[in-house]
Amino acid sequence: MTTCPYCGHDNEAHTCVGPIPAVPHDGDYSLCIACGFWGIFEGGSIRRPDRIELVGILRNPECMRVMDVWVEVMKLQRLTEAWN
Ligand SMILES: [Zn+2]
Repeated sequence: MTTCPYCGHDNEAHTCVGPIPAVPHDGDYSLCIACGFWGIFEGGSIRRPDRIELVGILRNPECMRVMDVWVEVMKLQRLTEAWN
């Protein structure tokens, strides 16, 4: 489990983009499912990226696709909440 350095959400599980299940390593990127901010795995926890790392994340096409999916999931969640 890791805690988001932005919103404090405890993320109990992690997954990766790709066909093979992976264990996160130091330096891997992490998107918080609760707030949508990017973090960096380090020493078993998540820290905020520095400016250079953030630019790398924002220029990474896979990260941008993950962000797009996260936004769509949040839209569906809001619609579902509105109907209930
Ligand atoms: Zn968060």
